[in-house]
Amino acid sequence: MKYISKKLTIDKVKVQDIAEKYGTPIYCYSFNKLKKNIKNFQKNFSSFSPLICFAVKSNTNINLIREIKKFGLGADVVSKGELLMAIKAGVSPKKIVFSGVGKTSEEISFAVEKKILLINAESESEVREIDRIAKIKKRKVKIGIRLNPNTDAKTLSQISTGKKENKFGVNEKIFFKLVNFCKNSKNISLKCLSVHIGSQILDYKPYEKMLRVVDRIIDKINHKFEFIDLGGGMGISYTHKDKKLNYAKYNEIIKKFLKRHKLKIIFEPGRSIIGDTGTLISKIIYIKKNESKNFIILDAAMNDLMRPALYGAHHKILPSIKSKRKSNKTYEFVGPICESTDKFNTLKNFQELKEKDLIAICDVGAYGMSLSSNYNIRLKPSEILIKGSKIQIIRKKQKYKDLM
Ligand SMILES: *Cc1c(COP(=O)(O)O)cnc(C)c1O
Repeated sequence: MKYISKKLTIDKVKVQDIAEKYGTPIYCYSFNKLKKNIKNFQKNFSSFSPLICFAVKSNTNINLIREIKKFGLGADVVSKGELLMAIKAGVSPKKIVFSGVGKTSEEISFAVEKKILLINAESESEVREIDRIAKIKKRKVKIGIRLNPNTDAKTLSQISTGKKENKFGVNEKIFFKLVNFCKNSKNISLKCLSVHIGSQILDYKPYEKMLRVVDRIIDKINHKFEFIDLGGGMGISYTHKDKKLNYAKYNEIIKKFLKRHKLKIIFEPGRSIIGDTGTLISKIIYIKKNESKNFIILDAAMNDLMRPALYGAHHKILPSIKSKRKSNKTYEFVGPICESTDKFNTLKNFQELKEKDLIAICDVGAYGMSLSSNYNIRLKPSEILIKGSKIQIIRKKQKYKDLM
């Protein structure tokens, strides 16, 4: 995104023109950015050509999954719905892994029927359930077991998943027990050790720690794994303060690990692929003033973009037309929903804004639209994909009749 003659543009398209033609609020994705992210990700780890499974929960637009698939990526899914979606988008089941702590019998059965690459189990009970279903279906089912490496990802506590107090994965002791269980099972083939310690990780050191744990555990077990699934979690910069994840360092650590263990690496990135490709364009409905600040009341709300309300996450906000006139008031960007957490950001020294102006909320491609809801019976916004100067509508705005 950049300003051309003071007008904010996504690739070659002006934000203003998008709003006029398609209305607001609206999610816009840049194909160029998406392509660049995927190519960079592949390049960063090219020496060991991992299988990259896009974490579908970060963005569930079928058209985007289709585009991502074209670059050779598989999918990481966490529900039957996402599995259906990935298959519908054309992702080969041989490139699909299924994660999640609470897969139902129906979900497991469906995954077994579809012959996906791996079901990554997260508990003793789940492994037994997979065994039971596999036996009924007379299939040898390939699974991974998710290890909880008790590693602090040094990220927001709400999106940290690799510490022992988190519900994810199993501890070392249970892991060993389950390896033995699988050895004695005719219905399960244990192919993978999986880990995923959290999201929006900006420091490579937690990954280093995680790999040290994995390394030690593989040494201890007498079992030949085919894959190590390192999960996703690679962070992006939402604010100027965020330093970038050092991919070169992460790559080095993995290469060192692979010298000791001949295994195929799987990644499950979501945010790092799609996060900075998305922008939410919104119009100012009213500006309401009080003694200390101005409330900028937008037509986008927490139902459209939940991350600030859910995790206190920050997203950059940009005006659609740049001016030099700074406001001396503090601006609080809020939505119309009847919740005090329905606010996006509080900013000082923002340029002066007036009612009906447009703003862009940046880096909303991941966990933006996929977390949206119909709270307050607000319609979910439309989504468009920008390819150079072309625009493709990839989701129509919801209609009231869809909800009544
Ligand atoms: C959410 C999730 C991911 C994706 O995380 P990102 O931070 O978006 O890369 C990958 N694997 C699992 C198991 C997840 O739950």
